[in-house]
Amino acid sequence: MFFYISEYFKSNIMKNVTILGSTGTIGENTLNVIAGFPSKFNVFALTANKSIEKLYRQVLDWRPRYAVLSCTNSAKILSDKLKSHSAIKTEVIGGPESLQFVAAHEETDYVMAAIVGGAGLLSSMSAARHGKRILLANKESLVMSGELFMNEVKNSGSQLLPIDSEHNAIFQCLPFDYGSPKSSSSASITKLILTGSGGPFLNTSAEKLSDISVEQACNHPNWVMGQKISIDSATMMNKGLEIIEACHLYDMPSEKVEVVIHPQSIIHSMVEYIDGSVLAQLGTPDMKIPIAYGLGWPERICSGAEFLDFYRMKSLTFEKPDYEKFKCLTYAREAYRQGGVYPAILNASNEVAVESFIENKVKFTHIPEIIDCALNSCSFEYDSTINSILRADFECRKYLKEQIGGKKWSI
Ligand code: NDP
Ligand code: MG
Repeated sequence: MFFYISEYFKSNIMKNVTILGSTGTIGENTLNVIAGFPSKFNVFALTANKSIEKLYRQVLDWRPRYAVLSCTNSAKILSDKLKSHSAIKTEVIGGPESLQFVAAHEETDYVMAAIVGGAGLLSSMSAARHGKRILLANKESLVMSGELFMNEVKNSGSQLLPIDSEHNAIFQCLPFDYGSPKSSSSASITKLILTGSGGPFLNTSAEKLSDISVEQACNHPNWVMGQKISIDSATMMNKGLEIIEACHLYDMPSEKVEVVIHPQSIIHSMVEYIDGSVLAQLGTPDMKIPIAYGLGWPERICSGAEFLDFYRMKSLTFEKPDYEKFKCLTYAREAYRQGGVYPAILNASNEVAVESFIENKVKFTHIPEIIDCALNSCSFEYDSTINSILRADFECRKYLKEQIGGKKWSI
């Protein structure tokens, strides 16, 4: 009883939230959810990379203790802009270490890890090392460093709550004691079923993919997301990264993680049990739902998302993914099977390829080719340290940047 009461009071204490990547789609949605709970959550730190103006407006609205920009020059510009607002006490800091500083700060309770790509690795890791509640949107950090990341979480007693809608759905469908040392519930699970919309090119023929523009690739049918994850959805690398993410989060062999195409994005993922039962989580495709779940857990709080209207829904359909057309799915499974630094190489090569596509240096269809080349050409030693992951990431990016624009991949 005493435990119950103390937990109840703890959950009612105002929580300080640090949002890494506050100017992105997930960051802004997090602020939208938090806006509904002024007595439950306090915005402690906000961070951005280049969006000085957006961060400036967020600082005026939220008055956090810290505002962070990855580059010190940008931090100076923001700091100067804030000088005329004497009532605002926000401290502006800059440089990559400042991201880790706010993630690890003793007054930070919750960290929303919503930086895109490998750039979020060290700050997400820092939150994990310092026992924070991590709301993990930055799937790339887990893909790159899965085993090390999960060890940090276990050793520090962090609460890791997945924000990626599929993994959040699975979290909601798993037994409450799943993963605890005394539980045997994992034996009752036969499969994790990740649903995916199939992206904007689900019904586009493979031949037509080479002429795809950045605008077409970013035009996701159901979700509003940042540019990189939108392109990942178009190549289906997003689902590939999510397979790896699920294996680490739920300690599952990859053979037990299945991908099912579900174009309506209403069922966000499912868990199949030994008795033939399948539990699913449903909802409108709105990231505010998993964000509110992560912030409120174990309670449920209002997300502000629209509710499902079953009478308006025409049908829910399912199909197998086309592994021939979407080769990134196979490459992700292969990189995970090889282990070591290969998932980091998969991620780095994907980031370089997507960036080059956005900059019109390569075609859409070059993206899987570049990843395949990196997985076959780059091989680095893994010694179970974060440094070996960072080295592989750095060397792989360097190698590919030298290749791109050459004969093999150019527009
Ligand atoms: P956005 O591109 O919208 O936002 C990315 C954020 O990261 C911005 O705040 C950006 O700052 C910051 N950022 C970018 N590069 C760096 C860098 N080098 N150093 C520090 N900060 C940086 O992305 P999303 O919000 O869409 O996605 C964020 C993460 O969440 C990704 O890992 C994505 O896979 C994951 N996710 C997103 C979903 C979605 O629906 N959007 C769904 C599930 C997962 P700036 O604005 O200054 O560039
Ligand atoms: Mg997802």
